[in-house]
Amino acid sequence: MTPFSIPTAYLIVGAMYVLMPAAAWMVLFGLRSRSALLWCSGGGLFGLGIMLLGFRSHIPEWASYPLANSLMFLANMMRAQALRYELEAPWRGRNIALASMGFGLVYEYFHAVLENAILRFEWTTFCLVGLLTHITLLSWQMARQEPSRSAYWVAGGYGVTAVMLLVRMLAVWIGTSAPDAVLGGLDVLGTIVAALATSVIGSVGFIGIFLERARRNDWAAVAARAKQEESARLGAQIAQLDRQRSLGEMSASLGHELNQPLTAILVDAQVAQHGLAQGRWSTAQLGELLHDIEKNTRRASQIIERIRRFIRPTPEQRRPVDLGQLAHEVAQLVSSEARAYRAQIHFATSPAGVCVLGDHIQLSQIVLNVYRNALQALAQSPEREVWVEIECQEPWATLRVRDSGPGFSPLGLQQAGSPFFTTKADGLGVGLSISKSIAQHHGGGLTLANGDAGGAVVELRLPALPAAAA
Ligand code: ADP
Repeated sequence: MTPFSIPTAYLIVGAMYVLMPAAAWMVLFGLRSRSALLWCSGGGLFGLGIMLLGFRSHIPEWASYPLANSLMFLANMMRAQALRYELEAPWRGRNIALASMGFGLVYEYFHAVLENAILRFEWTTFCLVGLLTHITLLSWQMARQEPSRSAYWVAGGYGVTAVMLLVRMLAVWIGTSAPDAVLGGLDVLGTIVAALATSVIGSVGFIGIFLERARRNDWAAVAARAKQEESARLGAQIAQLDRQRSLGEMSASLGHELNQPLTAILVDAQVAQHGLAQGRWSTAQLGELLHDIEKNTRRASQIIERIRRFIRPTPEQRRPVDLGQLAHEVAQLVSSEARAYRAQIHFATSPAGVCVLGDHIQLSQIVLNVYRNALQALAQSPEREVWVEIECQEPWATLRVRDSGPGFSPLGLQQAGSPFFTTKADGLGVGLSISKSIAQHHGGGLTLANGDAGGAVVELRLPALPAAAA
């Protein structure tokens, strides 16, 4: 005996199963998710099936049991399939059709041929318990995989309903309860309460799974952005340290370079002083000396400015950069080192105004690394030449540096440009890897090869800037 009408309870549970998924679908509609659609429509069908049970005394026999049971079976297949889509392991359509047919045939055999209400009930409930257990396990798997607290709730709700149905199945089997759904007993009451709770948990839980996922995705996006910013910051720091290291290594030759204009200034100033003391100098002669001093002062200050610009930490600034001009500027920076190696840097007549959009300092750093590697590679070669070529073949602008050294070793060809690969006793193996990442950061690349006639060929390829934009 139950304190309320069982058909009314069925109607309430059925209505909940129709309304809750409808509300859930409205929330999840914007996601256009196939699994959300399957889950919500499965819930709605299940609700209709339960409502048919509630109307049992008012509708024909075929609609109350066969139709209601088919709807409930199909509904749970849909919900299981929704979860399987989420777990990327959907059932095939053919298997679903076979399972549904199998369910219907056995049902009709017990119903129409044997006319055995207990067997019919046991079969239907057995299939439902199987499906609900499957949904429980799938939700559990999803809960662990994501991880999602909402999915645990869904698993819990479905698990309890499956257990309640199992109890009812056993109760009917041993004869303590009737298969008729509207002849209530404690087992029916328990099943109804569990189903009612699951109607809410199932819908709210499914929304929760998507909300949790959205929140997780937001976090992941924020973390990825932070990581990207951090690695960009570290990358800039490493690049700056590499520039400082390069200039540190070049300091002797840069000092020598600076010494020349300073010595010339000193000599000019002494000559001028001497001339003035003797009173034998014309204004024109003095003017010429002052002009020389001015020229050499400018030269010295240009050298200092180049070093300062190169070494100073500056935020990235993308501007049109003329590749030819940049190649000459950096060649001046290494000119004293080239003299020390007794090497010549040749420039092939390059088309004027091959421009790219980029950070002047970062691009200079690539060219500096490539020049210095070429010069160092020449140390053991009888012929000591470096050739620089610039070309533009839309959409690419290319700066190619060839040298007459021994070229890359087979291992060097494979590994050069990977961090910390070096064949030099005092090398760090970071120059080419920094250069590669700067080139990639500018939308281009740095390729390393050996020339047909020997020697290394390093090619910097960057997206060319159309003449109008440059
Ligand atoms: P490092 O100069 O500190 O060794 P790099 O990353 O600039 O670091 O160069 C890595 C390696 O690539 C060098 O040690 C050398 O073996 C090889 N390499 C680079 N440029 C040349 C070149 N022009 N000729 C031959 N080998 C080169």
